[in-house]
Amino acid sequence: MLNKNFKFLFTIYFIVFGIFITTLGAFISYKVHISNINETISHYAQVASYSKLNDYLTPHIEHMNSLTEALANDKILQSYIQTKDTQKSPELNNLFLTIANSEKDIMQIRYIDADGKEIIRVDRDNKQSLPRIIPKEKLQDKSLRDYFISIKNMSTSQIWHSAVNLNIEHGKVDVPYRPTLRVAMPLFKNKKFAGTVIINVLVNKLFASISSPIFNIYIIDKDGYYLLHPDKRYSWNKYTGVKRTLYQDFPDSASDILAGKTDGNGFFAYKMNHILHNSDDAILVLQPKQVIKQSMKNENLMTSAIVAILSILLSIPLAMYAAATPSKLQRKLQDTNTELERFRSIIDKYVVTACTNISGVITSVSAAFCKASGYTHDELINQKMNIIKDPVIEKSFYHNLWETILKGNNWNGEIENRTKEGEIYWLEQTIIPVKDKNDKISYFMSVGTDISAKKKLETLSIMDKLTNVFNRRKIDESLRLEIQRAERYNKKLSLIIVDIDHFKHVNDNFGHQVGDDVLIKVAEILQKSIRKIDILGRFGGEEFLIVCPQTEKEGVLKLAENIRKNIESYKFNTVRDITISLGLTSYQSGDDEDSIIKRSDDALYASKDEGRNKATFL
Ligand code: GH3
Ligand code: MG
Ligand code: MG
Repeated sequence: MLNKNFKFLFTIYFIVFGIFITTLGAFISYKVHISNINETISHYAQVASYSKLNDYLTPHIEHMNSLTEALANDKILQSYIQTKDTQKSPELNNLFLTIANSEKDIMQIRYIDADGKEIIRVDRDNKQSLPRIIPKEKLQDKSLRDYFISIKNMSTSQIWHSAVNLNIEHGKVDVPYRPTLRVAMPLFKNKKFAGTVIINVLVNKLFASISSPIFNIYIIDKDGYYLLHPDKRYSWNKYTGVKRTLYQDFPDSASDILAGKTDGNGFFAYKMNHILHNSDDAILVLQPKQVIKQSMKNENLMTSAIVAILSILLSIPLAMYAAATPSKLQRKLQDTNTELERFRSIIDKYVVTACTNISGVITSVSAAFCKASGYTHDELINQKMNIIKDPVIEKSFYHNLWETILKGNNWNGEIENRTKEGEIYWLEQTIIPVKDKNDKISYFMSVGTDISAKKKLETLSIMDKLTNVFNRRKIDESLRLEIQRAERYNKKLSLIIVDIDHFKHVNDNFGHQVGDDVLIKVAEILQKSIRKIDILGRFGGEEFLIVCPQTEKEGVLKLAENIRKNIESYKFNTVRDITISLGLTSYQSGDDEDSIIKRSDDALYASKDEGRNKATFL
């Protein structure tokens, strides 16, 4: 049924297999790429955080630190602290103005004395305007301000940073937002606090320019308030009162972020304490932009899909090519199987086969065996092979057969058997001892053909096959008829038995074939030597019988002598000389076949006794 579809089927198998492998491959490659994407993003995060913090924020803040430190250590300011010499005021003013001018982000520079009073102050209204000295009468007392108290309590001369906050004027947030960082340094006179310099730096530009095409960038303080949010509305929410919590942006990882942890995938957090030494404890948070991640994934998906589609397309011709050989083989195998099955059924139907174990118990039989024997398959299985044995066959026959096959040799011959109904049937059989790998007989296989018909024909025929003279059956029949005739009509009748002398030697010395040739030639000479009315037949083996109607003693003696001489003088191939002995007799009243044959046989023995090559009449 599948015969024509083998190629199609194999092609489908290969394609399905190909698709399976491709899908698996694409899936693995997709997974590998996903982890690559994560790695790439993590790498970008490292680079971005490093550049934002170290290349950008740090130098800027450090520059402010340096300015503050420079101002604190400036000789003019130092000598003022020592002497409180107001004569130095113009010089101080100049110093403060110069520093304020050096950076547009500097909005205010002050010196506040140990009591918290502003001694000198430079203000800048906005980035565009120039810094100006604030007149003495407008200087304020800052002794109660948080930042002053913090600075006053410092024991050594170090840079101090305020929290970054928005400028609040008259209790209201100044718009536009002006996030401010105060950088200060306490001053000491004789190891006693002697006031502080303090620079207000506008950091909005600094923060606003922290952006990235790959990440959303947040800066949060230790309480989770936003100093910087990608959506500007949420920046500085501590001061603006806009409600936006870290938990809204990072529902699962807000607490991790506050702890300064990085998960390497959804967000990357970096503490900023080493840059800003203040109470904010600010943390820089990078969050990979969803679009970026998605586009990287899409690109990966696309690549995998293209590879998969190409592989599938390629797999079709390849599968067809690959399917060609197995489909051919499969078809060949099926054809061979069909052929084998055909042979098997022919053998089963026409060849009489059976297998037996070494004890002769039947283990399998062919349908032809069942047909020939008349038993059904089930009746034969587990029976001994002698179920079909003909009881008239001599024991020595089977003895000889078993002896041969038990020695491991094949036996070949004709066997007369009995069917279930008791009828005779003939098999020409070969019995093969089948050996195992240790050369031990494991079972017997008998293969044969039913020759019953041939046997029947043989009995019906009248000619001897070898010598082409009448056979035993015919010559017996002729003798019976001639005896009847002699008896009924009182006719003469004589009989000659011819036996070749020492014929056994011929076979022994020259072989059976030469023996056969001699038999043929002898029969031919006999046929030529007798008269038309005489009847010649093969009596058995190397013996012939000649029935001579209307012949009495004198005539038969003459005929016999003639025959004897003809044989004696003939030069046979190979053997050259052959002689025969003859036994002669004539019909006597009351004779039957047995008695007349017995007399001529006796006459033959007499000839043999007297040295052979002789005819004797009795
Ligand atoms: P004797 O002179 O006493 O007759 O000796 P013999 O050897 O002729 O007699 P014996 O009966 O001992 O042997 C007959 C031999 O003839 C034995 C047998 O093998 C052989 N023989 C019988 N039939 C055939 C046949 O058809 N062909 C051949 N080649 N030999 C046969
Ligand atoms: Mg003989
Ligand atoms: Mg003989």
